[in-house]
Amino acid sequence: MTNQVDTFKMLKMQVEKDNNKIHAFEVAQIQLEKATNKMNLDPNILAQLKEPERVLMVSIPVKMDNGTVKVFTGFRSHYNTARGPAKGGVRYHPDVSLDEVKALSAWMTWKCAVAGIPYGGSKGGITCNPKEMSEGELERLSRRYIYEISSVIGPKKDIPAPDVYTTPKIMGWYIDTYNKLTGEASFSTITGKPLELWGSEGRKEATARGLSYTIEIAAKKLNINPLKATVVIQGYGNAGSIAAKLLHEQGYKIIAVSDSKGGVFNKKGIDPFEVLIHKNKTGTVSNYPKARSITNKNLLELECDVLVPAALEGVITKKNANNIKAKIIAEAANGPTTPDADEILYRRGVFMIPDILANSGGVTVSYFEWIQGLYGYFWDEERVNRRLKKLMVKAFNEVLKLAQREKIDNRTAAYIYAVSQVAKAMEARGIWP
Ligand code: NAD
Repeated sequence: MTNQVDTFKMLKMQVEKDNNKIHAFEVAQIQLEKATNKMNLDPNILAQLKEPERVLMVSIPVKMDNGTVKVFTGFRSHYNTARGPAKGGVRYHPDVSLDEVKALSAWMTWKCAVAGIPYGGSKGGITCNPKEMSEGELERLSRRYIYEISSVIGPKKDIPAPDVYTTPKIMGWYIDTYNKLTGEASFSTITGKPLELWGSEGRKEATARGLSYTIEIAAKKLNINPLKATVVIQGYGNAGSIAAKLLHEQGYKIIAVSDSKGGVFNKKGIDPFEVLIHKNKTGTVSNYPKARSITNKNLLELECDVLVPAALEGVITKKNANNIKAKIIAEAANGPTTPDADEILYRRGVFMIPDILANSGGVTVSYFEWIQGLYGYFWDEERVNRRLKKLMVKAFNEVLKLAQREKIDNRTAAYIYAVSQVAKAMEARGIWP
């Protein structure tokens, strides 16, 4: 136990040492340590849970439109596969790094375990700026990435999906490349595909829909009436914009939204449909005429009932945690809150719906897409949403029960639940050879 505590302190110091740069994998390790310090976990299991099972780093040469060849770096990390094939999205972003991909693959492992779906966790990414690339360049990048990682993916090995700045169209290129390489016509190697390529009904909305189910439970618990409640959302992509739409339909007032170029705020409310039209026209939510401009920093600190970080990690830190005024934080993004901030928010009574629970709707419907692809039998949206709700409510209740019983924060409870599921699978397997 002493060793665990020491490691926890050491990692915590490392993160504090370099406050300007949040190292996502250190955050993931601290979260794991914090949870396992409260568990009676076999140290031999813990030792195996601290690092990914395997990481692949690839060079991706791409012929650019101007005739030159640019070499990009790509990653795929399999964190743990005790509970099933690895599962996780692929991110295209200038800040993608090995550290980030490892962290995201750890979070996928815990998320699949919390959601109760038969997967391990993985993640991939390419360090690139898709906003500066033509469609042709993006297609060549995507196809070559799948070629480079093809030996470690497959319907029973590892199943990629979309993440930040990757879309169903890119998933279409992925599945086509994989099928051409293997000579198979499998539709279960990739999820988040377009419906024409046997994507699932409801997948596009799944992350936000799952998130809205968790907000519904939290709001009831805190006696918050949706018809009188306000919501702030950072990030207006797949997760953020659809969360805005669904919560608006449920009667919540969306008072501020943002994207990478900045935010807009109107305390009387913002129509998420109009903002989306504005974003589709101009490429950003900024300068939406019926609201005033606000920075991403100030947006997080607005007075509101529900705050939804739906962009990148490390945005709620010890620097701003004391200024957060939301009653509920529903983490659509992966890793938006640092461990220091978690402690402050818990002390201040902010109700946290942690990422590995809050945004697990996306991977849950990816699981449904995988099942449908394997069987070649496809469900309607009503069935998808009904089954999603059942799994999300079950997962949330398990986490809340544990948090209340042990008097711990929701993130630690979610981790304890997840880690014990993974540990049980590892114990049942034993060590090979
Ligand atoms: P997306 O590419 O569709 O949208 C990302 C959004 O974040 C865009 O609006 C972008 O402008 C904004 N953004 C980027 N940098 C920003 C910054 N510095 N400040 C403010 N906004 C910024 O991506 P997405 O799929 O919506 O993913 C968003 C988050 O949700 C990520 O953390 C992702 O890992 C997580 N997530 C997504 C899914 C899914 O199914 N899409 C599932 C689980 C978790």
